Amino acid sequence: MSSEAAGRLLKRGERVVLASHNKGKLVEFRALLADSGIEIVSAAELDLPEPEETADSFEGNAAIKALAAARATGLPALSDDSGFCVSALDGRPGIYSARWAGPGGDMQVAMQRVHDEMGDNPDRSAAFVAVLCVAWPDGTTRFAEGRCEGEVCWPPRGAQGHGYDPVFIPDGERRSFAELSAEEKNATSHRGRALARFLKTCVAPGDTPR
Ligand code: IMP
Repeated sequence: MSSEAAGRLLKRGERVVLASHNKGKLVEFRALLADSGIEIVSAAELDLPEPEETADSFEGNAAIKALAAARATGLPALSDDSGFCVSALDGRPGIYSARWAGPGGDMQVAMQRVHDEMGDNPDRSAAFVAVLCVAWPDGTTRFAEGRCEGEVCWPPRGAQGHGYDPVFIPDGERRSFAELSAEEKNATSHRGRALARFLKTCVAPGDTPR
């Protein structure tokens, strides 16, 4: 990281593009940033194209998305690359989490594949990982990571949330992510933790956050 990147901060009250077309993420980000004074505009509202995620890491893909949105809009852009990492599958689906749902984006297919590939492996541990990237139009980037550890359950449980939520029970819980309220999930989720870190390290402290 350059010394300029290390010191660069988002200011409260600033408009930031969320470089994601995923409605579930937009809802979560708006809720998580509600008190920060940062105004989120979504890439879909601005009709931005979705760049291909060609990197081999969460950081790399987060940077591709944030840089594309920042350069297209001239605004700072925030992206999130996240995924479901299953220990018994050597961390897969990981960066391929969305792709395991196939071209139709069918999460039943993705969850079934996790279940089938795990078979009867006694190691049920898994984690959700999120890496946030903020990028400025001049190419500066900064990152914040969050993890939420837990285990895989089967069959899928609950109707809240999105993605792999129905097959993941976070540590210290008996309910799956899809059985928690949005507030409960955000309090411990990978994205909630990454965002807390992001607010500490990438946003200028303000006197009176809204
Ligand atoms: P991304 O948009 O490339 O970051 O894709 C991440 C994929 O990981 C999503 O499409 C989901 O399948 C999965 N994922 C990420 N975060 C969550 C979550 O909070 N709950 C459930 N699935 C998630």
